[in-house]
Amino acid sequence: MGQTLAEKLLSLHAGHPVVAGEYTLARVDWVLMQDGTGPLAVRQFNALGRGSLALAERTIVFLDHAAPSPGRALSNDHVFLREFCRKHGAVLSDVGDGVCHQIMAERYVSPGDLLVGADSHTCTGGAFCAFATGMGSTDIAVAMTLGKTWFRVPESIRVNLQGSLPRSVTAKDAILFLIGQLGADGATYQALEFGGEAIERLGMEERLTISNMVVEAGAKCGLFPSDEVTRRYLEDRGRGNTFQPIAPDKDADYVREILLDLSSLNPQIACPHTVDNVSQITQGNVLGTPIQQVVIGTCTNGRLSDFMQAAKILKGRKRHPGTRLLIVPSSRRVLKDMVANGILETFIDAGATVVTPGCGPCVGVHAGVLGDGERCLSTQNRNFRGRMGNPKGEIYLASPLTAAATAVEGRIADPRAYL
Ligand code: SF4
Repeated sequence: MGQTLAEKLLSLHAGHPVVAGEYTLARVDWVLMQDGTGPLAVRQFNALGRGSLALAERTIVFLDHAAPSPGRALSNDHVFLREFCRKHGAVLSDVGDGVCHQIMAERYVSPGDLLVGADSHTCTGGAFCAFATGMGSTDIAVAMTLGKTWFRVPESIRVNLQGSLPRSVTAKDAILFLIGQLGADGATYQALEFGGEAIERLGMEERLTISNMVVEAGAKCGLFPSDEVTRRYLEDRGRGNTFQPIAPDKDADYVREILLDLSSLNPQIACPHTVDNVSQITQGNVLGTPIQQVVIGTCTNGRLSDFMQAAKILKGRKRHPGTRLLIVPSSRRVLKDMVANGILETFIDAGATVVTPGCGPCVGVHAGVLGDGERCLSTQNRNFRGRMGNPKGEIYLASPLTAAATAVEGRIADPRAYL
């Protein structure tokens, strides 16, 4: 029997062939933590008493969730993590560098890697055909100490993508639609493996958006094969030498196969307060809902192509006076690219507030906490009650195109009217 991508990648790191359902120890290539989860992971690492990192130059600490820090306790966490990096030789990605998952994509993760992170959206790295997954702080401390950790090899759901995305429909709409179909626990501890004739037309930034959100269906990871698209992305970032082509075997065994015709999709929206509460934007009474804050960015949709889509609608227009518009670049590089191609000016002219590269208001600690009764439409990946710092707020999730149209109208709007 052939192997799925998950089986292939874990076999590479176990040192012998493994099959779904088996428990295995696997060698780790990268360990990441961020300023929310990092302090606990470091304390657990200290408690294990080994005293040194197994992979110092491959253990990366990101100060991105509360960056710059809005308060004393978080500032002290940053001091603690900077000191940990200095003492143990771990890599520090400091305030303003960007979100962990974007920096991993730009600088570190490559096809065939095994990446574990103390952050649930570590699955973003699956876009490179890396086995990338989030773990709790104790498991991360073990990986930091030993350079390996255990896995139950996940079963895989194959998602065959066909057709092409219509002009006003994005990868975000595709993954929202899929999560709506699967449900929040529809892929629990399984790998979502993407394939089919359409993937060669999906750029790396679109693949990153899709892999980023697979955990919202409970998936352990979201894997694309590595191909020419992957190679070009790595070459553009001076990392072409890390490319290797990896594809599943033709006779691999899947627990389920899903066909998703991209050309049949419409703009989608996830309504409060669960990510799988998805409908077409034109269904129900969603269109026209007043929105007080629009967020474009984060690790889900904070890349250059996302901002270029939003800028197509916002160029020459202003945000609605009753709606704040926050722009959150996912990295310093993305911010520089936005300056270089002029779209940052488009957003400033539209009345936007540009936030430090990082998580921005996504997790509700700063830079856009909602007021009581306020509604936000965001391109982020979660809309749980209280996610943006106030349980009396509501969060809708949608694409950068829908976000831009909504910012203009001050109400949830259909981007097709602008394109
Ligand atoms: Fe988590 Fe949001 Fe930061 Fe992404 S942008 S890592 S989802 S807090």
